[in-house]
Amino acid sequence: CGIVAYIGHREACPIIIKGLRRLEYRGYDSAGVALLNGQLSVYKKKGKVAELEAFISDKDTHANIGMGHTRWATHGEPNDVNAHPHYSTSERIAIIHNGIIENYAALKTHLQQQGHEFHSDTDTEVFVNLIEEIQKQNHCTLEEAVRLALHEVVGAYAIVVLSKDEPGQLIAARKGSPLVIGVGKDEFFLASDATPIIEYTNEVVYVNDYEIAVIKDGKLDIRTKEDVQQTPYIQKLELAL
Ligand code: GLU
Repeated sequence: CGIVAYIGHREACPIIIKGLRRLEYRGYDSAGVALLNGQLSVYKKKGKVAELEAFISDKDTHANIGMGHTRWATHGEPNDVNAHPHYSTSERIAIIHNGIIENYAALKTHLQQQGHEFHSDTDTEVFVNLIEEIQKQNHCTLEEAVRLALHEVVGAYAIVVLSKDEPGQLIAARKGSPLVIGVGKDEFFLASDATPIIEYTNEVVYVNDYEIAVIKDGKLDIRTKEDVQQTPYIQKLELAL
């Protein structure tokens, strides 16, 4: 239901938690974060963002890249396991997702035959394993694997993907579910709407359907799922806090 992500020079976790609180008005049943700092760590809990905060209070949350999610369950009951982020089977890739993957059951059967293990009842866990399988079969970058995966999934999504193997980067894509990128100075914010972003920057890029955003080395690259590079259209927000 709600997405927040950060890549830059600040501590990601407090920015993400604050952002998730700003998205609380959208409604949700669970919340979680993934933090990338050499390790790829996922922490998630059923219930309020406050419960997630209590859960991570004794964890090492130091990271400059991360993402957080508030879930409104569509596939699988609200519980800790079904909460996002979801790992791929190898636990080297993690995803957060808003929306619904309609052909998840067929994809899941196919992925299980290829040895992927599923721990949740969500459609989302299928998406991240599909990305992993495509990357394995094509020996390609995460960006390429995400792009190819978008050609396989049917439904609506806004996703953010992190990989332990390509640690300096954040990848996002959308179709049907909203996604906004806040452009700061050598830092970027992602969210389902601008409310978590406006306190840091008023320059935003609205991602269009079937676009993939790759943020690395302080740069934002946006391409269509046919791999055609787009010029990001930066809008100035004039929202009062
Ligand atoms: N379909 C996903 C799930 O049930 C995402 C729901 C959402 O948008 O929060 O886990």
